[in-house]
Amino acid sequence: MNPVAERAQSDERRTRRVLWDAEVRAAIIGILAVAGVMLIFEIVKTAIWSDMTLWESHSVTIAFSAFAGGLAVWGAIRRHANLQGTLLSESFERRRLAELSARLTAHTIELEAANVRLAAEVETRTRLERQLVQSQKMESIARIAGGLAHDFNNVLAVIFISLEMAALAVQTGGPIETELRVARDAAERAARLSRQLLSFASHRPLEFVPVDLNELVEQAATMLRRLAGEAVQVRLRLEASAAVVRGVPSQLEQLLFNLVVNAADAMPTGGHLEIATRSVSVAASDLPSRIEGGLFVELCVSDTGTGIPADVLPYLFEPFFSTKGEGKGTGLGLATSYAIVSRIGGTIEAANNADRGAVFRVLLPASEESVADAHLAVTAAREGGGERILLVEDQAAVRDTAQRLLESAGYHVTAAEDGEVALALAAQMRVAPDLVVTDVVMPRMGGRDLVDGLRARWPEVPVLFMSGFTDKVVMRDGESNTIFVEKPFSRELLLSWVAQLLPATHQP
Ligand code: ADP
Repeated sequence: MNPVAERAQSDERRTRRVLWDAEVRAAIIGILAVAGVMLIFEIVKTAIWSDMTLWESHSVTIAFSAFAGGLAVWGAIRRHANLQGTLLSESFERRRLAELSARLTAHTIELEAANVRLAAEVETRTRLERQLVQSQKMESIARIAGGLAHDFNNVLAVIFISLEMAALAVQTGGPIETELRVARDAAERAARLSRQLLSFASHRPLEFVPVDLNELVEQAATMLRRLAGEAVQVRLRLEASAAVVRGVPSQLEQLLFNLVVNAADAMPTGGHLEIATRSVSVAASDLPSRIEGGLFVELCVSDTGTGIPADVLPYLFEPFFSTKGEGKGTGLGLATSYAIVSRIGGTIEAANNADRGAVFRVLLPASEESVADAHLAVTAAREGGGERILLVEDQAAVRDTAQRLLESAGYHVTAAEDGEVALALAAQMRVAPDLVVTDVVMPRMGGRDLVDGLRARWPEVPVLFMSGFTDKVVMRDGESNTIFVEKPFSRELLLSWVAQLLPATHQP
């Protein structure tokens, strides 16, 4: 009971006591008044009306006494009633006040709770607004970056293949070949950067497949060791249990690559780098709200480098944030990694190791699916034997280079600048081309429509889609005789894919 109600209750008890006292007092006054009046009349009677009979004398006395007693009782009752009224109204007032105060207390508690709820809602709203602004910022950057990377890939495809063909034409081991190799290495770096931009920018539906993370790390290990440099000792600690996640293999390789490059950069004079995987069960309360709890595959890339300064930590995953200085860092590595991980419903966080260096912990939702052999087998490149290839590409430089490459390898190439021209050329062919190599996005008619048109007539015609974008939405489920590749690519890879697709009768 609250203190005000307690006080009201004790006031009521006191009121009842006062009323009882008043009633007793009224009764005593009444009796005394009757007795007094009787006495006075007896004296007066005896003095004035001494000739009255006893009966007459008593009747008058009783009448007077009754009148006086009545008056006294009436007075007492009135006083009592007044007092009771006053006391009752006071007690009623107090009870009303007590109720009011109790209601006020209850409302105050409710208001306080509402206030807390409101503050939490305001905070959530502010956080969501901030996230919205951030995602809109990322979205516009991604659009610009995606467009740039696509055009860039077409340019790179030409540089790549031309450099390779030039290298074939010059003397092995000579100074020109060395220069060409240097140029090719630079082009390769540019291609990696452009892939980075595309993975960051990709906002189209991606083709997710089950990927064994342990297998992916093992397969990439040689390249990762080369990336890390000789001074860095790379150790793999891959937990043997299930490490299957749903993702895009090339993007997961990109993620690994980004984390390893950063770790190596943080250890300019060498050190230890560890890539570890394990299965973990994580509760929803330990994850951001967009992710459900459950089984995850954890990937930790840990180094013994400089570590991450506290003032840098909050900005790590922002696009274009870099502390590596002009010309060295692009600030896209971690932003891309963040985008890759988020797209498959995972998380990535950075921390400093207790002793030295930094650790990046990635959690990816575990999948129960089994891993199909999703990677493209690299068939040995071989020279052609006059097989007819229909090559469709809108960028003249890419088209010409690819044509030169394929022709130099012994294929017969018919080139077209878009789907419509290619269909018109195909209409004049009596037999199907042995292979169609086509770009995906082209003006007037794109690669997909072209292939649908060609396959209406020749259902089995093999197709190699090549695109400056990284997603395979152009591919249909279960479509055979079809490969999707990303530009730019090397001469060897292109010839290997061509060899893979050509009908068996043409194989040497
Ligand atoms: P970039 O590598 O081009 O600078 P990133 O987005 O990959 O861009 O990295 C952003 C920044 O995060 C880096 O410039 C660096 O300051 C910091 N960083 C990333 N990884 C590490 C690491 N392993 N150790 C220390 N700092 C790191």
